[in-house]
Amino acid sequence: MNKITNTRVFGLSSKLFSHFKTTIYIDRVSNMKEITTLVLLDLATVLREANLVALLDKLRLCKFHHHDYNFNDVKLNPDKIFWLCEGCK
Ligand SMILES: [Zn+2]
Repeated sequence: MNKITNTRVFGLSSKLFSHFKTTIYIDRVSNMKEITTLVLLDLATVLREANLVALLDKLRLCKFHHHDYNFNDVKLNPDKIFWLCEGCK
């Protein structure tokens, strides 16, 4: 029996935080806003554990978003890396 993969890899595109990547369990979330929050929480944890407080302050100012895909695309594409970006305009 095939095991359904419930994780997806998300990466960041950002002046300071490229190319951070983390794996998110998508059965716990229902939209892209929740995913973005979880990805940024993972990055904040990494920065906090390394005591990079100046970068944590910078992270709080970043407004990450996604384009060209939606939550349904995330669910349908288990092998794709999905990127969140900021500062792209
Ligand atoms: Zn963008």
